[in-house]
Amino acid sequence: MPVWSDGFFAVNDAGAVVARPVPGAGLEIEITRVVAAARAEGLSLPLLIRFQDILKARVDRLNGAFADAIAASGYANRYHAIYPIKVNQLREVVEEILDAGASHQLGLECGSKPELIAALPLVGIDRLLICNGVKDAAMLSLMLAGQQLGQQVLPVMEKFSEYQELAALGAERGVVPRMGVRVKLSTRGSGRWFESGGSRSKFGLTVPELVRVVQDLEQRSLGAATDARAALQLLHFHLGSQIADIQALKSAVREMTQIYADLRLRGVPVRYLDVGGGLGVNYGGDYGSADSAITYGLSEYANAVVYTVLDVCRARGVPEPILLSESGRALTAHHSVLVVPVLGVHRPDAPPLPAPEAARRPHSTPHVVTRLAEIVAEATGATTQAALLEAYHDAAENRDDAEQLLRLGYLDFAALAEADALYWSACRAVLAGLKALEPATVPPEQQQLEELLTDVYLCDFSVFQSVLDHWAIGQLFPVMPLHRLDRRPERRAQVVDLTCDSDGKIAEYVVVGGTANWLPLHDLSADEAHGGSAQQAVPRDPGARAQPYYIGLFLVGAYQEILGDAHNLLGRVAEVHVYASSDEPDNFWIEETLPGISVREMLADVQYFPNDLDRRMSDLIKTRIDAGVVKPAEGMRILNQYTRFFDRTTYCELP
Ligand code: PLP
Repeated sequence: MPVWSDGFFAVNDAGAVVARPVPGAGLEIEITRVVAAARAEGLSLPLLIRFQDILKARVDRLNGAFADAIAASGYANRYHAIYPIKVNQLREVVEEILDAGASHQLGLECGSKPELIAALPLVGIDRLLICNGVKDAAMLSLMLAGQQLGQQVLPVMEKFSEYQELAALGAERGVVPRMGVRVKLSTRGSGRWFESGGSRSKFGLTVPELVRVVQDLEQRSLGAATDARAALQLLHFHLGSQIADIQALKSAVREMTQIYADLRLRGVPVRYLDVGGGLGVNYGGDYGSADSAITYGLSEYANAVVYTVLDVCRARGVPEPILLSESGRALTAHHSVLVVPVLGVHRPDAPPLPAPEAARRPHSTPHVVTRLAEIVAEATGATTQAALLEAYHDAAENRDDAEQLLRLGYLDFAALAEADALYWSACRAVLAGLKALEPATVPPEQQQLEELLTDVYLCDFSVFQSVLDHWAIGQLFPVMPLHRLDRRPERRAQVVDLTCDSDGKIAEYVVVGGTANWLPLHDLSADEAHGGSAQQAVPRDPGARAQPYYIGLFLVGAYQEILGDAHNLLGRVAEVHVYASSDEPDNFWIEETLPGISVREMLADVQYFPNDLDRRMSDLIKTRIDAGVVKPAEGMRILNQYTRFFDRTTYCELP
């Protein structure tokens, strides 16, 4: 947890996960209490909790890191963070970040038409709005209108033709538009998004194209009252998200600063140097993986930028530019946690055959069953690796035989169930024996058995809606139980979602020292033991008899919400916005609750409408009433039951 939580999450003495959203304040918020408060306000699960104070803390930390680097190095200019709203466009998130960054003049970045429309009024006149992405004439014209209003809107040229279009629009209005240029550097980033940088990247002007822009501006300056060269205000590059190698960043910054120095020495007064996004977040996991491990922190990142730019500027004798970074993930990832309840548990090692079935058997016990019973005894008594592995191989062979015998009609299904139960007992005994031996080299069978005997915890959420990057690109997200951590979680589990898709699962987990394909979770059957349930499954609603078992998915605040996809029509989840406060009994208050999307809204997205569906259902029921299958009162009850679903959540509901 310390690896990924950045101090914002911890486990208290009572074994509950707490948030510590305000650094240094000593305030702890038990996450399950937030869940209880949100449920009391009528929200359903799964629940996304936003700790608004964490957004502020991350903004402060980023600005603090640059302020420290600037002060320590003697850098003679300032830094502004620019929040790229594509990372999380939710208005409350953007406003919180703008508020937190007010004293540092934090600005915004937009990359599309709707983002421009959302951001333009939010930046006012004193914050920068950096406009990246492909722009049509209408967008460029609106950006110019912003400049006319005195706003600090900077369209960043992604293509040479875009520059020509902007210049033509400016000429129509008799102005030289202020702008930036994204430069295709030869340096490439590293990690998963490395193709965002480099000379073959999708966006940016090549250096020859940049020279053409400069020549054009020089041309326009000749004999003009104002120096058109001042229009080129910003140089920008973006190496891709999650830069894994800080050396690649330094190299790109160096390359860009050399170009900046050339421009200054040629008389082009570029003001801003924008190092793009890519400041990495450590999601935990394997430090050994050069592709994804983020081994630097905010200070090292800020130092890398500040000292590299300073070095080049001093060597070339040019003034230091204002520094900008478009850090998105690093500002928002930590602030939200998705809470999902466990709906049921499947254990592959099924319980022993109930006695009555054995008693009903017409003939003597089939050989394959007696043989499997012997193997269980052999495995239980085995003391060497060889004997254990032999028992495992024999068990697998006999279970295959049992299946084959059923197919040929020589074994009935009850005997197969018995064989199956004995097979799993043998597996458990072999695995326990192998683990007890602690062999120097773990045999592949042990690994196989660990996987075979992993429980499946069915949880109320959709991977595709809430952590799409896990499915799409294997992004790791820390996952853990939110309570009961005063007891060691004894089961090995895999978390699966509600979708009817075999990919709807969390396939890899952050564990101590690396990653694993299973997660330690508590044995829910132990909680239910008094109810007599449960080797095989806990009841669908663990809340009915015991407290629900909650699992948290952490660091989901960047990209996931907006990338989310409505697979199986499971939609946007409910959310609660929380602020820390020592005046409140549980150290928090809820600023806002937002219900998740309803069945009605979700269906409208795919062109189904309640009026039409209701009419069709009503017609169907009428025909069944007319046919005498149901009485009218019962038919109407069913119709009402159906209709009420339009306003329900798309997820399963706990009572
Ligand atoms: N700036 C640009 C141009 C981007 O394309 C992106 C996203 O990849 C970002 C900034 C944000 O990057 P990150 O969230 O990794 O900081």
